[in-house]
Amino acid sequence: MAVNNHKIIIITAPSGAGKTSIVHYLLQKYPDQLAFSVSAATRKPREKEVSGRDYYFMSEDEFKQKIHQNEFVEWEMVYEGKYYGTLQSEIQRIWNMNKMPVLDIDVKGALRILERYPDCSLSLFIQPPSVDELKKRLQSRGTETAASLAARVNKASYELSFKDHFHHIVINKDLNAACAETEEIIINYLNS
Ligand code: 5GP
Repeated sequence: MAVNNHKIIIITAPSGAGKTSIVHYLLQKYPDQLAFSVSAATRKPREKEVSGRDYYFMSEDEFKQKIHQNEFVEWEMVYEGKYYGTLQSEIQRIWNMNKMPVLDIDVKGALRILERYPDCSLSLFIQPPSVDELKKRLQSRGTETAASLAARVNKASYELSFKDHFHHIVINKDLNAACAETEEIIINYLNS
């Protein structure tokens, strides 16, 4: 697979749609071409999450300082009081390695990146088969409280209304099939 080091791949979806599993599949399969864009975030690390690998975990003060210093290409308060953002330095770090950043970000953030990099980004929206199915998946993950589950499900319904803004929609009914479909889209893009 050829690499143009100034392309960006955006994978977006409502939380629980399976985008993280798809991103992991791609990164494992193409470690020399693709690299995960590690976001900054102010939420607490979950068990087994490592700062610098999963997120750059930081305090709200630190995050806000980076906003004022214009260090983000996009940032959002994704959940009440929790900030997430893509650092310019992270995109550059990956481009410097001659790889392509893969961004696993929420829908609003993805729209901002598309606005900012209209000519060099490929966006995929991963759609859950239904909001009910998404709720079940989030419940089985066991990482949500009743309140955070409700917030994620509400947000998912809203985010689904933006799906047509993205280059491709992949319905994740079956994870293997969704990974294969995503892979094919990305290979075509890299070779274009
Ligand atoms: P989680 O807390 O489950 O790791 O992530 C919550 C949501 O934040 C997910 O939809 C994830 O894709 C999104 N997210 C992660 N990093 C970023 C980022 O840098 N910017 C934006 N806008 N969303 C992000």
